[in-house]
Amino acid sequence: MKQRNPFAQYWANVWAGIATTFIGMKLTLGYFFDYVLFRKTFTMRYPEERPVVPEGYRGRHKLDEKSCIVCQQCAKACPVDAIVIEAVGRGKDAMLTRFTVDYGKCLFCSLCTEACSQSSITMTKEYDLAEYSRQAEVRSLIKLKTPEQIKAHEAMLAQKEAEKKAKLEAAKKAEAEKKAAEAAAAEKKPEQPGGNGNQN
Ligand code: SF4
Ligand code: SF4
Repeated sequence: MKQRNPFAQYWANVWAGIATTFIGMKLTLGYFFDYVLFRKTFTMRYPEERPVVPEGYRGRHKLDEKSCIVCQQCAKACPVDAIVIEAVGRGKDAMLTRFTVDYGKCLFCSLCTEACSQSSITMTKEYDLAEYSRQAEVRSLIKLKTPEQIKAHEAMLAQKEAEKKAKLEAAKKAEAEKKAAEAAAAEKKPEQPGGNGNQN
């Protein structure tokens, strides 16, 4: 590459400094006169005034507790382990006892919503997530359960399990009885006359 004359380079640098300052000032002065002459404002009085949030904005999560099957796929998909789920029971019988998102960690990447086969977890347009402590950033997406509710759910699950077991036992017993009856019937059956074809 051809070396530039140092004297010319010096003045080129000075000119670039002046030109870029004027380009910046042109923008600033444009806003300044817009405000002075036309009273145009470029800021808003937040929080009294609220911005219009565009479609597709990824804000705070929302969970449809009823459709959630506690499969943990959203928590597994989260790259920063921001989701913690705890439940009593499994699948459709599960009762969520904890479903939190740590907004101190969350990247708002939406991978959790994409991993959910039930579309139970979605992202809303809520952007105001400022808190005064890191602990407060851990937010629950479910209604908190009382110890009584958890106990009642555990009792319901135990009863369901007992009923299932009883049904299984009854089915096994019926099968065994059926087999025994078939065996007894086979024993009672008279022997078939010999059909070996030795006829005179
Ligand atoms: S949006 Fe991303 S970072 Fe936030 S909880 Fe979902 S998967 Fe995790
Ligand atoms: S992936 Fe969906 S269904 Fe599974 S635990 Fe998360 S929110 Fe619930």
